[in-house]
Amino acid sequence: MFFDRFKNFKSYKTETTPCRIKLSSNENPFDLPQWLKDRIGEAVKNIPFQRYPDPTSMELKEVIADFYGVKPENLVLGNGSDELIQLLTIIIGNPDKPVMYPVPTFPMYQVSADIVGKKKIEFPLDKNFQLSREKIGEALEKKPVLAFFASPNNPTGNSFDRALIKYVADRGVFTVVDEAYIDFSDKEDFLSEALNRKNLVVLRTMSKIGLAGIRLGVLLAKEDVAKEIDKVRPPFNITYPTQVIGRIVLSDGRQVIKEQVEIIKRERKKMLSELSRIEGVQVFPSDANFVLIKVNDGNDLHKRLIEKGILVRNMSHLPYMENCLRVSVGKPEENEIFIEVLKELVK
Ligand code: PMP
Repeated sequence: MFFDRFKNFKSYKTETTPCRIKLSSNENPFDLPQWLKDRIGEAVKNIPFQRYPDPTSMELKEVIADFYGVKPENLVLGNGSDELIQLLTIIIGNPDKPVMYPVPTFPMYQVSADIVGKKKIEFPLDKNFQLSREKIGEALEKKPVLAFFASPNNPTGNSFDRALIKYVADRGVFTVVDEAYIDFSDKEDFLSEALNRKNLVVLRTMSKIGLAGIRLGVLLAKEDVAKEIDKVRPPFNITYPTQVIGRIVLSDGRQVIKEQVEIIKRERKKMLSELSRIEGVQVFPSDANFVLIKVNDGNDLHKRLIEKGILVRNMSHLPYMENCLRVSVGKPEENEIFIEVLKELVK
């Protein structure tokens, strides 16, 4: 009886089969260099582990603020941006007001709404995975209070039309632009919008640029908006190790991140071009650190790739994603092996 509400609840699905080549979670494939790890090791050794961390994460916030060119007052930090998505779903508007988001997209918006018990307004992207004014108009008629747009979108990889995101915010809906993949995109971001509007915030994450293991997500907003959201944040959600490691990597390791992102972008370009030449594989454009492909039998190819030691993400369970696989950009040698094996398997 206590859990009746969750009888049909679908948990967030992750892909954890151990494999030689892991291209399934859109992580940065490169680890940190040893000199940076040594610096981290030294600092972590000196953490007073019996103490709670700083509940405001102030020193880390100062480094992140500098990283993004904003003020610490513009930030709310989360245990991954997953936590921030859940927090926003809980707090924005009354519980009886619905949440809107396009499909297919990052499943956490749906998962969070289901946990909180908020109604969902799911509206389809068009055949190019782009937002459509018509579908947005229909969604808005149902009076949502909160909208999520992942741009670049996961799992499709494309960026959304800015004007249509603004259109939703202009109708008074609290609009979250989830820019988890923006570091790999050359398109304009929504940061200045977030710093100037009362009903638009941006989400970023350190997970895609090399720090998935420490769980650090960032919300960027106008100062008074950030202050309201920060009020309801769990007090010690950013652990002591995360505060220490984040501070070091985002200050001393900035160049490392920049170089790794450049390699990933170069590799993406190579992958897109090679994939587009393989018969039986349809590849979609990507502004992210992964590419989406469509094949004849997605479930079978996914299984056969695992047999060859390569793990990609099978997207077939999501709406409109039949026979689609999402492949993270890996190290150059991993991408080469993936392409070779794929060519073999789809022959
Ligand atoms: N937003 C999007 C669009 C994502 O794809 C992901 C990760 N898969 C997240 C947010 C969550 O990131 P984090 O690791 O910061 O919780």
